[in-house]
Amino acid sequence: MTTALYPGSFDPITNGHLDIATRAAKLFEKVVIGVYDIPAKHLLFTTEERVGMAKQAVANLGNVEVMPYNGLTVSFAREIGAQTLVRGLRVGADFEREFEMALMNKELSPDCELVCLMSNLKYQFLSSSLLKEVANLGGAIDKFVPKAVAEALKKKVLG
Ligand code: ADP
Repeated sequence: MTTALYPGSFDPITNGHLDIATRAAKLFEKVVIGVYDIPAKHLLFTTEERVGMAKQAVANLGNVEVMPYNGLTVSFAREIGAQTLVRGLRVGADFEREFEMALMNKELSPDCELVCLMSNLKYQFLSSSLLKEVANLGGAIDKFVPKAVAEALKKKVLG
């Protein structure tokens, strides 16, 4: 079975992330969305909340699972039998970081391959951090995220 790991912080999951997960689900028999279990203080949502929102968002994709993880991404990939990592690339911003990370991952785990999917044109500008900034300032975010995420974000920002 070809399994791919799509790792990230997903704080929170956006339509840009979902687009990548949906396209990856067509390329691999199984896709695991790996949610970094980073200390919550750096992020808006807890790991549990991020996993919960991602699970809800991909509920209609039969071959996509969501799992939290700690430690090295390549170690988690090995643990779940994923031979490939999937990442999304937006114009400019992502390439250098992804390239650097890919080279390091290759040193750490030579058998693990990286597949980068180009971000859909309509999500090129969309990042979780910009989304949180807009939400914080009271801007409309509904068209950038699934409904449940928009609600959770508004609640978090207001609360
Ligand atoms: P990280 O902190 O690892 O960058 P993110 O949750 O921000 O985690 O992103 C996870 C992955 O999804 C990364 O490969 C990132 O480039 C990609 N990504 C984020 N936003 C988009 C988007 N709008 N379109 C396509 N890919 C995206």
